[in-house]
Amino acid sequence: MSFIIILIILWGTWRLFTDSIDLAMDAVPKHIKLEKVHDFLSSQTGVEDIHDLHVWAMSTTQVALTAHLIMPKGFSDELISELQEALKNEFGIAHTTFQFENEKIEKECKTDC
Ligand SMILES: [Zn+2]
Repeated sequence: MSFIIILIILWGTWRLFTDSIDLAMDAVPKHIKLEKVHDFLSSQTGVEDIHDLHVWAMSTTQVALTAHLIMPKGFSDELISELQEALKNEFGIAHTTFQFENEKIEKECKTDC
């Protein structure tokens, strides 16, 4: 009988356990494909390229993102809101931080950045 109870507890907590390990390791959450997020951001109007894309879980339910977007023609508050909304809807990423850059800045960047 107690064996069955142990199994039930294990079954119920395994997911939380593996999520906690991922959280401790700063891993990209399993339900999010980094490549898809990269492609999605790259395909946005005015975005020439992106780099330094990071996606990680802030908790077992909340996901954060940071990215550098190359936007030589500039950006607007409206665009930021649209990106935030789209990332939330498409990938469930609720916390986003963007850095906007000109192509020029990137050319001066000599290291892996
Ligand atoms: Zn950069």
